Amino acid sequence: MQINQDRYKDHLMTLAEIGKIGETGVNRLAHSKDDRKAVDVVQGWMKEAGLTTRIDGFGNLIGRTEGTEPDQPILMMGSHIDSQPYGGRFDGTAGALGAIEVVHTMKEQNIKPVRTIEVICFADEEGSRFNKGVFGVRGLIGQLEEGEILRKDKNGMTRLEALREFGVEPDLSESPVYKPGDIEAFLELHIEQGPVLESKDKPVGIVSAISGPIWLTVTLEGFAGHAGSVPMHLRQDAMLGAAIITKEFNELVRREGTPNTVGTVGSIQNFPNSRNIIAEKVEFTIDLRDIDLDARNRLEEKLYQLIEKTSKELNLDYSITEDTKSDPRYCADWIKEIMKKHDEQLGYQSPTLMSGPFHDALFMSYISDYGMIFVRCEKGISHNPLEYAEMEDLQKGVELLYHTAMEIAGA
Ligand SMILES: [Zn+2]
Repeated sequence: MQINQDRYKDHLMTLAEIGKIGETGVNRLAHSKDDRKAVDVVQGWMKEAGLTTRIDGFGNLIGRTEGTEPDQPILMMGSHIDSQPYGGRFDGTAGALGAIEVVHTMKEQNIKPVRTIEVICFADEEGSRFNKGVFGVRGLIGQLEEGEILRKDKNGMTRLEALREFGVEPDLSESPVYKPGDIEAFLELHIEQGPVLESKDKPVGIVSAISGPIWLTVTLEGFAGHAGSVPMHLRQDAMLGAAIITKEFNELVRREGTPNTVGTVGSIQNFPNSRNIIAEKVEFTIDLRDIDLDARNRLEEKLYQLIEKTSKELNLDYSITEDTKSDPRYCADWIKEIMKKHDEQLGYQSPTLMSGPFHDALFMSYISDYGMIFVRCEKGISHNPLEYAEMEDLQKGVELLYHTAMEIAGA
């Protein structure tokens, strides 16, 4: 291996100590004191890797090494180092520290890339603290929303105050920082957060696309009644409607979806939620994803039909609100080709797979071509202290990142 496996491992384990909870957990909320501590430590590692560093007004940590042709669009790599409140050691950090390791290795080998390289640790990817994430990357590409700097955390502190406490002065007029054409490619390595690589017995995967979710909230309204007295044929049972839709939606996705389609009813609210009252109003969420937009649209249409049909049969009123609808974003073919070539030379035989969860890379895709490398993680567990990836798998992923970056940066 070209990369320094011990150094990478050491960095990962050292970072896991900051905000550590229990034996293997991490709680490093965005812009918090522990987040700042982590940024300071990682900034030190960036400097050791030969990078000139800055922390911008959004809380992003960026390291830069000038290429021999500084006018060329740059190569950017990285991920995030904030965590969920009850998170693991590898989510984000694997890729952020992997990117630093790549540049450090280049420096040690006296490689001077043609393109300028920037390594980034995006601020607040997770979104747990202010209930809205990918803040840093959206700042960079000009996708911040009106007033979002005044969103509050559960203690009433605004993001603005939190960023000041973190040690930066936010200036939203700096957004966007990068425009289309500035960046030749963005590369992100991340743990898979799913079970596909494990099931294929492969340490590394090349990502084809990040799937786009549709998020709906469905409300069914019937009529409350005494569970003991209203005969079955006279009921308007909203709970029953939700149950039928949930089951038939699941069957629809299994039967008519592509191998990549996933559909989930994950949250449900019931009124009045009493054991001896027929449910009057039930509200539940639907999450539907695929990288094949046509397939997803087809299923969405059938889902609407299913909701209408079920409501009619049970004499319920229904309404559907669309909370989110984003398109899948495809990794650039030319980057995947470079990855595949080096993957073959490294002898990994990595499969191609899609990403169900989104990542900072999804947002970078609006201004740059992008590629992603996934690393196997145990049972697909993530956002949980039990999250675990084998160091050997992580190192293999970073090695592939290294070769990919070398080729794109012209080294
Ligand atoms: Zn992540």
